[in-house]
Order: sequence, then C-alpha cells, then structure tokens
Amino acid sequence: VALALAGVAVAQTSGWARYRVYVNTPEEAQRLADSSLTLYSENITIPSTEMAVGPDQLPELWALNLPYQRVAGIEPIDRYKDYVRTQAFDFTTQYGRLADIIGQFEDFRTRFPRYVTRQQIGTSIENRPIWAYRIWNPDSFTINEPPPRSIVVLNLIHAREWISGSVGMYIADQLLRNMQLSPVFLRRMNRVQVWIVPCHNPDGYEFTWTNNRLWRKNRRRNSGGTFGVDLNRNYATGWGQNGGSSNNPSSDVYHGTGPFSEPETQAIRDFANSLHPNNPIIGQLDYHSFGQYILWPWGYTTSRHPSDPTLRLIASNMRTAMVNGGGRSYTIGQASTTLYIASGITTDWFIQTFNAPGLTVELRDTGAFGFELPPSEILPTCRETWNGFNSYLTQLVP
Ligand SMILES: [Zn+2]
Repeated sequence: VALALAGVAVAQTSGWARYRVYVNTPEEAQRLADSSLTLYSENITIPSTEMAVGPDQLPELWALNLPYQRVAGIEPIDRYKDYVRTQAFDFTTQYGRLADIIGQFEDFRTRFPRYVTRQQIGTSIENRPIWAYRIWNPDSFTINEPPPRSIVVLNLIHAREWISGSVGMYIADQLLRNMQLSPVFLRRMNRVQVWIVPCHNPDGYEFTWTNNRLWRKNRRRNSGGTFGVDLNRNYATGWGQNGGSSNNPSSDVYHGTGPFSEPETQAIRDFANSLHPNNPIIGQLDYHSFGQYILWPWGYTTSRHPSDPTLRLIASNMRTAMVNGGGRSYTIGQASTTLYIASGITTDWFIQTFNAPGLTVELRDTGAFGFELPPSEILPTCRETWNGFNSYLTQLVP
C-alpha cells in the first residue's frame, strides 16, 4: 500500500516550477529572450521576468548567469489530455476546445442569420480553418449612407491565454443582445462591422489541450526540429528590431524566418487588406493574458506614436468604463515602455497600415493564477472586458 501511494504522489507532481529571473539591462533581456525556457508572462520585463522551468532545464537556467529564485510549483502540464465534456458548453463558466468555440459562434450565426456572417480567412499550418465572424446590422436606415467601417477583434493569438477566447464569445453575445434591446445600439451597428476572429492560432490552442497547457506559439516545424513561431512577433512592423523578439527557433518569442512567414498571420494581413478601403478599418483589439493592462503602440520602439494623446484618451475612457461597471482597474500605457519592447506585434501593424488605434488588452489576473485563470473568473473578466469594449466602440462610432 505504501508503494502504491508513493506512485500516486509522483504522478501528480510535474517537476515544473515558476522561477523569477532578474534582468536589468537590454542585453540581459535579450539573453533571456533567446533562451529556450518557457516564458511565464506576456513578455520579457525589466527588472524581473517569470519563466516556467522543467526538471531537466535547471542547467540552462543556471547557464544564463542571471539571478533567479523559485516562485512556485506548476501542476502537470498535460493534465487536460483526458478532457471529456459532461454537459452542454457554457462559455461563461467553462473553457472550451476549438470546436466548442467555433460551435458557439455557429450558434450565434444560426440564431441571428441576418446579423452574423462568417468568412474563412485562412488555414493554419496543420490545416485548421481560421474564421472571422462579422456582426453588424445590414438594414439601412437612410439612402446614400457611407459603407460601414470595420473593427477587427483578435482572440487567442497566444495559445495558452484561454480567457482571450472567452471574451471573444462574450463580446459577440453582448453585441447581439444590445442590438435586440436598444434601437440606438442597432443603429450604431449599421455604421460599423465588428469582425471577430475567435481563434487566431488554432493549432497552438488545441495543443494546449492535448499536450502542453503552457504552449504559446503556433505549430510551425522549424529547422533544427523545434516547433513554433510567436505569431505576435511575426507581423511586419518593426519585425526583428530592437531586441523585441528572438531569432532562436526554440525561444518563446521566436519571430519566424521573415515578416508574415506564417499562414496564420498572412490570413489576418490579407483579410484586413481586403476590408480596406471599402470598409475602412477604424479599430483593432488584440486580447491577451495576463497582467491587466491596456497597451497602445508602439511596441517595437520607445518612441511615441504621433497619435499618442488620442490613444491614451481612448484607453483611459475604457478603463473608467470598466471600473464604473464594477470591474478591476487596468494599467494603461504605451506597450514598449509599460512592459518591454515587443516587435512585430499586431497593433503596431494595424496602426501603421490603417491608422487604426490598435490596442493590446492583457486580461486577468496579475499573476496569482497567471495563464491558468480559474473558471470562476471567466464571467467577471468577460463583464469588465465588455464594458471596456463598449467604450472603445462608442468612442469610435458615437
Ligand atoms: Zn499574449
């Protein structure tokens, strides 16, 4: 009996742990970015960054020659392998597989065929479709109206940031509810198309359910046998510049072999270009976790964007709406100076290409649960995110 119990205890311990690594200079940040250790935060940050370190990776951590301390153990990273749904999918209380998320959007499309359409905008490396769902009101109120403008909402570019998928479904649900309830809102949705991409990175997302809960990148097979490109370092604006990414294929912030080298980022690029200029892109949101931030361009340089005051005002109004609605307070700021330089990110490309005020929203929490936000946090996170989104929408389409 004693032997059997010992066996159980071993099986429940992964040996992985979170380590806080102290980085004080850009050179040290680059050294950490170039390592093949798993990043346990959105970005490398100064003066410290948390990393997930496996039991056989301690020599690599030590060889970085940076101070570090162990923070906490990590549960087995493959514990979702035996995931079986026992009830109907409820996106406000459960995280779902890719099929659950797309199924939820198909449910919206079936219930509101006039207000919801979809378009396959690309195919992932492992041949999964990448979808964009359009929510708008096609019923014109007067003649000679200008064509509706576009807002692009990206979810799950980083595979392990599951709460991002939840807020995509919640925003769609709230848009449709408000269109039912409010003539003013219905009229607004005649002037704007909200394009929601439920899952920018379908291969990586499924991999977090089947193999590794902490997977971040896509599933590109790189030269050298490692896997994955960080899709949020693969956009063209500032690609590979200023230490905001890595050219090491095993790094969690590997930028790929060139700008837009990945089918997943090509899909968004080509889709956005197809909207513009007939349905001009006036806004773009990219939902991530964690840290509770609203971040604006630039990410690839510490220079200020010419629209910095406007971006700050939009983000500030969003934060106010979130707090007034009973949500948590989020930190607002320019991405590069609030976290650290990140180059090749979505929002830099959208603002450079379309002059759209792209914002990166880092959802809950501030680190206690990190990427593994408990299901009880889904609904309160979605509610505050909707209040912020609705503020963004009404600022751009009064
Ligand atoms: Zn992210």
